Amino acid sequence: MVYSGGPAIPTPTGTLRAIPLGGLGEFGMNMMAFEYNDHLLVVDTGVMFPDAELLGVDIVIPDIAYLRENRERVRAILLTHGHEDHIGALPYVLDEIDAPVYGTPFTLALARAKLVEHGLAEVVELREMHPGKPFEVGPFQVEFIHLTHSIIESGALALTTPLGTVIHTGDFKFDPTPMDQHVSDLHRLAEYGRAGVLALFSDSTNVERPGMTPSERGVRERFEEIMAEAKGRVLISCFATSLRRLQLVADLAHEYGRRLCFVGRAMFQNTEIAQQMGRLKIPPGLLVQPQDIKKLPRNQVTVVLTGSQGEPMAALSRVAVNSHKWISLEPGDDMVISARVIPGNEKSIFRMIDHLYRRGARVHYADGSQPPVHVSGHGSAEELKLMLNLIRPKYFVPIHGEYRQLYRHTAMAKELAAVSGEILLLESGDVLEFDGQGARRRDRVPVGRVCIDVGTLDEVEEVILKERRHISEDGIVVPILAINKHTGQLEIRPEIVSRGFVPLEEAHELVASARDVILRTIEKSNLEEVGDWGVIKEKIRSALRRHFDQETGKRPMVLPVILEV
Ligand SMILES: [Zn+2]
Ligand SMILES: [Zn+2]
Repeated sequence: MVYSGGPAIPTPTGTLRAIPLGGLGEFGMNMMAFEYNDHLLVVDTGVMFPDAELLGVDIVIPDIAYLRENRERVRAILLTHGHEDHIGALPYVLDEIDAPVYGTPFTLALARAKLVEHGLAEVVELREMHPGKPFEVGPFQVEFIHLTHSIIESGALALTTPLGTVIHTGDFKFDPTPMDQHVSDLHRLAEYGRAGVLALFSDSTNVERPGMTPSERGVRERFEEIMAEAKGRVLISCFATSLRRLQLVADLAHEYGRRLCFVGRAMFQNTEIAQQMGRLKIPPGLLVQPQDIKKLPRNQVTVVLTGSQGEPMAALSRVAVNSHKWISLEPGDDMVISARVIPGNEKSIFRMIDHLYRRGARVHYADGSQPPVHVSGHGSAEELKLMLNLIRPKYFVPIHGEYRQLYRHTAMAKELAAVSGEILLLESGDVLEFDGQGARRRDRVPVGRVCIDVGTLDEVEEVILKERRHISEDGIVVPILAINKHTGQLEIRPEIVSRGFVPLEEAHELVASARDVILRTIEKSNLEEVGDWGVIKEKIRSALRRHFDQETGKRPMVLPVILEV
């Protein structure tokens, strides 16, 4: 049965508010509040990955000023699935907000690992939710509905209040042949649709793509092809949360007589968790430690590693510039990048692919060739239409997307006859209120981005204001280097300029030792690393920060500038 909030209430007097706190009109950082009278639920607490513009920042989380102000009304945090753009900010939110966290077992396992790192595991209550097992949080009936996505145990949330039901889709695609046979629960969506849904909040990520997103099964064909033809090592980079893909790689490695090695912290941690939970099954004796790979013939090795987005310090970037401790690529090896190019990362990814080709590897990436090395976890246009047609909501609000994607999703909905009431384009901070009379926009609430420096686990800067404060407290240091791209040599002695840090004109020793740190960092890097300014800047930045922290106890913002000569 569909919950309608208990015995029928003739004219509901309550107010239901939907408040996107992140992820609408921007990429990532998904977070939304639903309030019925005095009861507030948070759906997802995601991060956004900083792009090159946000130098010196590790992750970006939504500003939670609104939740902070309404702290005592927060009844629960509900997680749709375990991707970083949905759970990454959880520890930072729970640092200030006291509420139980609901998620599927796998999502909670990933969340727990984060809480452990932040010393919050003991104080936060994690509660499992399961498809077909609705539960109550205050006046809300909450039901988790399984939908397919690129991570297991992902789904939509149906939140039923005396005013009606709202459905938040999370991220989804309608994969008719998922690798684990666990298809989306279309029946449950249709049942809600038939009973009547007040509002649908639906994923817009792939609205610009026509047709249907191919099944995850499509990847198998290409991977088999690559494995069958491979003469050397096979390296595969994908997201550490893509368990079905990791299972596929493990199965194929086993089939083709290769040992399997996981490289990179997130890859190692997630596959451990998944194996413990029985969600990733690896035949005994298949796994090999990274340090033992050298001992194996090249055609008996498969390596799965992190860094598909070209993150300068991740395993794949290190392999690409030949500076990884244990893993190297040689001519004749195969390198598979089985992930999408997250907007903003294009430059670093293609620069990394260039390096991989320089190593002599055959590089396979999502270049449009078929069968694909990667398929998206998000539904394309026809799937989004199907969602609208199944739910037939009174109100429709597109979520998870930049403005153009949200716009395109509203335009699509207008072409269908699926929405009986209004189609609304909201951005983060907008407030949509429902009551017995209808729906209307209310005054906006504060939203924004907060940048987190993982090194200190502190919230150090909000893009402009907090950045200024950070600089005003610890100052800014700008090392200026002139590097010859061809020789990898410094052309002149590095200059160091600072503001608001210690007066460098007087701190001769500090300047000299900082120069030494720069010189040592460059000496310890190989030519390709020095030639790749994304990599070398990051190495100099982290080395200098560590140095200044040790020497002065301050953590100035370090912004290396490299002059091309
Ligand atoms: Zn996702
Ligand atoms: Zn997402």
